[in-house]
Amino acid sequence: MEYSVGVDIGGTKIAIAVVNQKGEMIDQTVIPTDLSIPPEAMISKINDEIRNMIEKSSISEDEIIGIGIGAPGPLDSKNGIITCPPNLKTWVDIPFQKLVQQSFSIPVKLENDASAAALAEKWIGAAKENDNFAYMTVSTGIGAGIVVDGKLLRGLKGNAGDIGHTVVDPSFGQCSCGQYGCLESIASGTAIAKRGSEIMGRHLSTKEVFDLYAEGNEKIADFIENVFRVLGVACVTLINTFDTEKIVIGGGVSKAGNPLFRSIQSYVSQYALNPSGRQTEIVPAKLEQSAGVVGAAALCFNIM
Ligand code: ADP
Ligand code: ZN
Repeated sequence: MEYSVGVDIGGTKIAIAVVNQKGEMIDQTVIPTDLSIPPEAMISKINDEIRNMIEKSSISEDEIIGIGIGAPGPLDSKNGIITCPPNLKTWVDIPFQKLVQQSFSIPVKLENDASAAALAEKWIGAAKENDNFAYMTVSTGIGAGIVVDGKLLRGLKGNAGDIGHTVVDPSFGQCSCGQYGCLESIASGTAIAKRGSEIMGRHLSTKEVFDLYAEGNEKIADFIENVFRVLGVACVTLINTFDTEKIVIGGGVSKAGNPLFRSIQSYVSQYALNPSGRQTEIVPAKLEQSAGVVGAAALCFNIM
């Protein structure tokens, strides 16, 4: 049996797992993303976690074929560099791949996190049967991984699918990138908690905002329905641009579940341009919150 190590770098947490060639997680751990320490120190912690995990597994080192890292963009995946992700503010031009590679003798690969998660959903998840689909993560930020004609779209530096900074509602106000009304500034977990807290006049987590929505709180309802609408707008954009047959949604905010999926499905069935596009299925990630880390490990297995 062959194994690889997956590392999923998020704005809130870093997931690390040993995955076998069938996509099964043998061991896993999650550590918080600590932005108060230099990125190099955080990477050194990640290296320690990887080493510990390999040592305590009963797997011999020569069965481990590589380490795959999924990281938020903008990045330069071909050169293994994290460029300037908005949700990792201090991580500017970090040679991530090199800093991991120095500690291990097996190959290290770096890819956009949403692209990695798309690979996982294609490999053993909700898009196993699909050659034209998008994976959208709605988490600390928002991004997409896109598969067209059975191939993962990477682009010049590996940033294809960075849909979080697509303008969906200019009236909403300025985004951290300078544009007005980006998807991520309205519908990411971070944005939902911020705006929900402003509306209610007290500090709320994203989950607490959704709990108020489930309880029928009217002040929150308008806001959350607008969040669902802009996520629908984003999905229609993906469908119209890439002619997808399925959109898989993952990330922490997808835990909001049925109301979110029903609402996006309904928007898509009305507004996608192509009649076949209106049939696009909007489904939750089968790998749930593990799509990112399994996808990172999948980078070493030549799935696509
Ligand atoms: P990361 O961005 O670090 O990869 P996640 O994919 O877990 O992390 O996304 C984190 C976001 O998901 C946070 O904004 C968090 O508040 C939100 N979140 C976590 N659990 C829930 C939930 N049950 N319902 C809605 N949002 C949630
Ligand atoms: Zn933006």
